[in-house]
Amino acid sequence: MILGIFRLIFYLIVAYVIYFFLRLLLSPRRPARRHSDRTQSSNIMVKDETCNTYLPREDAILEKADGREYYFCSQECRQKFLGRKKSEH
Ligand SMILES: [Zn+2]
Repeated sequence: MILGIFRLIFYLIVAYVIYFFLRLLLSPRRPARRHSDRTQSSNIMVKDETCNTYLPREDAILEKADGREYYFCSQECRQKFLGRKKSEH
């Protein structure tokens, strides 16, 4: 009688484990992120006018001067550029 109950519990555990693994296998897998699959706009390279470096536009610091847009790799380059602009006038 007691053995029968243990057997029943054992079967329940086995059934649960099978169910758990089936759910794990059937669950939709998230598509792996692909670095190259980004939007086209992110591929645009811009030039840093201060140190003449090319960098992705999304990583650049934008500064508008004289109706033009300038891009910089760092705040330091931006400050240098602005300082140079002031000294010109
Ligand atoms: Zn720079």
